[in-house]
Amino acid sequence: EAELSGEAAKAWLTVFSDRVAAGVDELTDLDRRAGDGDFGWNIGSALERARAGLDDDDRTGENPARVFQTVSDAFLASGGTSGPLFGLWFGRLGAGPERPWSVVDLGAAFGTATEAVRRLGGAEVGHKTMVDAMVPATDALTSGTSDTWREAVAEAARAARAGADSTGGMIARRGRASYLGERAQDVLDPGAVAVAWFFEAAEDV
Ligand code: ADP
Ligand code: MG
Ligand code: MG
Repeated sequence: EAELSGEAAKAWLTVFSDRVAAGVDELTDLDRRAGDGDFGWNIGSALERARAGLDDDDRTGENPARVFQTVSDAFLASGGTSGPLFGLWFGRLGAGPERPWSVVDLGAAFGTATEAVRRLGGAEVGHKTMVDAMVPATDALTSGTSDTWREAVAEAARAARAGADSTGGMIARRGRASYLGERAQDVLDPGAVAVAWFFEAAEDV
């Protein structure tokens, strides 16, 4: 199917939540080495709440916006710096069209969402944050030539993965990792890794 349906969006978020649950120790370990060690818990508990919200509301699968809004609500009730940032990201997606999303809709929604996160957190590409994965993924979505949402998101996933990998070797300029400077240089940013997992999760929908 060319467009992203509400049901597919719901399935995408379910796969993402499973991926994070399976990798929560990895995220905890990264944040322990470059921060305070709570990122795995923060994102894992937010996604558990999101899932409960998706299961409770039998209208969540009607359109992608409603799915993303439910996920946003869960992140906004979560701790850490990542809670409000992911809450804003998913919240802007949740303001997208209340119908199946074309590739153009996807690019517009992620463009708005990523720009909002960049502004709130003040992070640019190269500062070793989730933005290092969000920006290239969003660029892939807005400039891609794919006809179907699956191909477009698969391209975004490759870009997000490359962006997340690029954080290994960066000296952090934002967030707690910036307090560690060179000592956390070789650690991947857990927020960027989670964003790569998010886009990669769509491949298993
Ligand atoms: P905290 O540092 O409050 O414990 P979390 O552990 O919940 O925050 O989240 C850490 C993640 O948040 C980092 O891996 C990074 O991706 C992201 N992050 C931190 N500060 C910023 C920022 N200013 N802009 C964008 N992302 C940020
Ligand atoms: Mg932390
Ligand atoms: Mg913390």
